[in-house]
Amino acid sequence: MGAERLTVEALEARLEGQRQQYRARLPAELDAMCELVRGVAGGHPQQLEALRLRLHRLAGSGGTFGLADLSRSARALEREVEAMMRDAAGAAALYAEDWYPRIQALGDSLVVVAPRRAAIGVAGDAGATAVAVGATVLWLVTDLAAELAEFVTQLESFGYRVRHFRALDDAEAAAADGAVPDMLIIDVLLAGGSQDSTARLPACPALAALDVPLLFVSDEDDFGARVRASRLGAEGFVLRPIDVARIVHHMDGILLRRHAPARRVLIVDDDIDLAEHYRTVLRGAGMEAEVLPRPDRLLERMSAFRPEVVLMDLHMPHYSGTDLAGVIRQLEAWAGLPIIYLSAEADPVRQLAAMDRGADDFLTKPISENQLIGAVRVRVDRARELAAQIARDGLTGLLKHAAIKEVVALEVARARREREPLVVAMIDIDHFKSVNDTHGHAAGDLVISSLAMLLSRRLRRSDAVGRYGGEEFVAVLGNCRLAAGEHLIEGIRRSFEELRFGNGASRFSCTVSVGLADLEAMPDASASELLGAADNALYCAKRAGRNRTCKAGGAIGGGRREAD
Ligand code: GH3
Ligand code: MG
Ligand code: MG
Repeated sequence: MGAERLTVEALEARLEGQRQQYRARLPAELDAMCELVRGVAGGHPQQLEALRLRLHRLAGSGGTFGLADLSRSARALEREVEAMMRDAAGAAALYAEDWYPRIQALGDSLVVVAPRRAAIGVAGDAGATAVAVGATVLWLVTDLAAELAEFVTQLESFGYRVRHFRALDDAEAAAADGAVPDMLIIDVLLAGGSQDSTARLPACPALAALDVPLLFVSDEDDFGARVRASRLGAEGFVLRPIDVARIVHHMDGILLRRHAPARRVLIVDDDIDLAEHYRTVLRGAGMEAEVLPRPDRLLERMSAFRPEVVLMDLHMPHYSGTDLAGVIRQLEAWAGLPIIYLSAEADPVRQLAAMDRGADDFLTKPISENQLIGAVRVRVDRARELAAQIARDGLTGLLKHAAIKEVVALEVARARREREPLVVAMIDIDHFKSVNDTHGHAAGDLVISSLAMLLSRRLRRSDAVGRYGGEEFVAVLGNCRLAAGEHLIEGIRRSFEELRFGNGASRFSCTVSVGLADLEAMPDASASELLGAADNALYCAKRAGRNRTCKAGGAIGGGRREAD
C-alpha cells in the first residue's frame, strides 16, 4: 500500500483544509485592505496600487476556494481602484467611510456561499448529522462468528460503519468493483484457520492497491506474520482478545495523521524563479506554500499566512537571512516556528554561525526535491506534535481544561454575535473511583480514553470537546438547540453504557451523567455562568440516580461550585 498515493477522500480532506485556511485568513486580509484605504484617504494615493494588488489576488483566488461571489465582488472593486489610479484626482474621491463597509462586505460571501456549519434545528436530525460526520467506513474481513456481533456493535458505537466480509476474495471482489473503505481490518487466519491472509493478500490486486490504513488481527503473536504484515504496509498488528477501544484509538491516530491539514510553508528568497520552483515542488507534495520576495513584509505576511515553517535564503539584498531569523525570534508568538536556511553557502563555519541565530536546519543549494520535501515535513510535523502536547491532554488527545474554557468563551461570543443557539454539556463518569479501585488505574485510563473517543467521533467536527478534569468532560455544541443537543448527548450516553471493558470475569461497563446548559435560555450569561449552569445540571443528574442527562434550570438549583 503506497503511502504517498492519495485517496479521493484524502485529497478532499486536503482541499477542504486549504479552503478552511483560506476562509480563516480572509478577515485579516480584509482588515489589511481597510488599512490601505485609510492610508489612501489619509493622503497617500500611492497605496492604491497595493490595494489594487490585494483585490486582484482575492479576485483570482476566491473562486479556487469555492467563493465565487467573493471573486466577482473583488474584481468589481479592483476595476474601480484601477479607474481611480488612472485619474489622479479620482483618488481623492476615496472616502474611507464608504470603502470600509464595501471591503468588509467581501467577507459576507463567506457566510452566504459557505455556511460555517449546517444548523441542527430539530431533535430528529441531530443523530443523523453526527453519524454523517463521524462515519468512517471500515471493512472487516474475518470468519470468526463468535466475537463478530459485539465487535461490530462496539465499532459502530464509535461512529464507524462496518462492512463485514467472511473471505478475502469477497473483499477483493468489492474492491475490484470500485468500492473504497477508509480502513481495512483483516484477520490473519481465514478460511477456518487454513489460510494466512498476510501471505494471501498480495494475490488480491484490488485490495493490495487500496491506499488505506491496514490492520491485522491475530490469535497469536507470529513474528513471520508480523513481518509479512509490515511488508504489506500494515499500520497495526493486534492480538486477541480484541480491545475495541484500543483499536479505535490506534485507527483514529492513523486517520488523524492522514487527514491533517496541508502544511504551510513560507519561502523567503529574492531569487523569484528559484522560490517559485520550491513552491511548485512543495505544492506538488500537497503543501501550501507562499513566496515572500520582499523581506520587509515578513511580519505582515506571517500574520496573514500563519506559516508552520520558514524557508529562508541566507544572502539577500538589504537584509540577510540571519537578520530576519533574529526578527522572528524577537516575537514570543513565533518562538517555536521552525526556520530552515536554504543557501549556497558551503562553508560549515559560516553555516554554524548562521544557525546560531535561531534557525533549526541548514540545507545547501542546490537541494533535491525529496530532500526539501522531507526536511519541511519533519520540521512541521514535529512542531505540530509539540503544539498539540501543549494544548492537548496526553491520555485523551482532547483540549485541556484551560483550552476548552477558552473555546467556550469564544463560542459564546460567536453565538451571540451570529445569533446562533449554543449548548454546553458537562459529562462525568459515574462512580469512577470504584472502577479504579476494582479494576486498576490502567483500566480506568482506558475507560476515560474510550469516552473521549466516543465524544470526539460522535460530535460534529465543528464541535469542541475538552477534558475538564480527571473523568469530567466538556462539549461545546455550536449552532445547536437544546433539544437537538440533548438528543445527540443522550445517544452518546447510551452508546457508552453499551461498551464493555476488560476480559472474562472482570468484564465491566460504565455510565456517565450529563448536565446541559442552553445559551438561548440564559442569553446574557458569560461563559463561566454557562459552564456553572451545566455543572449544576450535572449535579442534578447525579442526585437523581446517575446515568442520565439533566438540563439547566431543572428542579434542583444552587451552586455546587464555581466553574473556574
Ligand atoms: P460520581 O459518580 O459522583 O462522579 O463518583 P466518582 O467516583 O466518579 O467521583 P469522584 O470525583 O469522587 O472520583 C473521580 C475519580 O477519578 C478520582 C480519581 O482518582 C479518578 N481519576 C481522575 N483522573 C484519573 C485518570 O486520569 N485516570 C484514572 N484511572 N483515574 C482518574
Ligand atoms: Mg465521576
Ligand atoms: Mg468528577
